[in-house]
Amino acid sequence: MQTVVTNSPKDTQKLAQNLAAQFKDGGIIALTGDLGAGKTTFVQGFAKGLGIKDKIISPTFVLMREHKIPNTDTVFYHLDLYRLEEPIDIVNIGLKDLIQNPENIILIEWSEKLGENLPHNATKINIEKLDQASRKITVQ
Ligand code: ADP
Ligand code: MG
Repeated sequence: MQTVVTNSPKDTQKLAQNLAAQFKDGGIIALTGDLGAGKTTFVQGFAKGLGIKDKIISPTFVLMREHKIPNTDTVFYHLDLYRLEEPIDIVNIGLKDLIQNPENIILIEWSEKLGENLPHNATKINIEKLDQASRKITVQ
């Protein structure tokens, strides 16, 4: 387990950008934290670290956005499950198929909504708001 305190959105993005290097060949990231904690801010840095130039906005209403990584066959899937009322079968959102391919890079905001369906090999990252500009980021 690794804990870091960031003191600005830029700090959080830098941290995420550096972490992304570990996931270039695929992986699942389960991101938790309250509304406004900084999850989407984190994803913006993470996507940048993957070489993605698209604007990253939270897929709150569509649940998932796909971003192709330039010059590769790899796709980054960004999910935001905030609007799900209860843990649902991951098949319903197509996540099960995506997980079958270990080369996919899958990041799930509000991953706690998956309950028991959260893949066991996911890297868990929690963001906690300490004050206006500080966040405690725990990676495990
Ligand atoms: P979430 O996706 O968790 O709901 P957002 O990333 O959309 O959160 O919003 C986080 C807000 O907190 C942004 O307005 C961001 O600028 C602000 N913020 C302030 N300090 C930090 C920090 N250290 N890390 C991340 N975000 C921060
Ligand atoms: Mg968000």
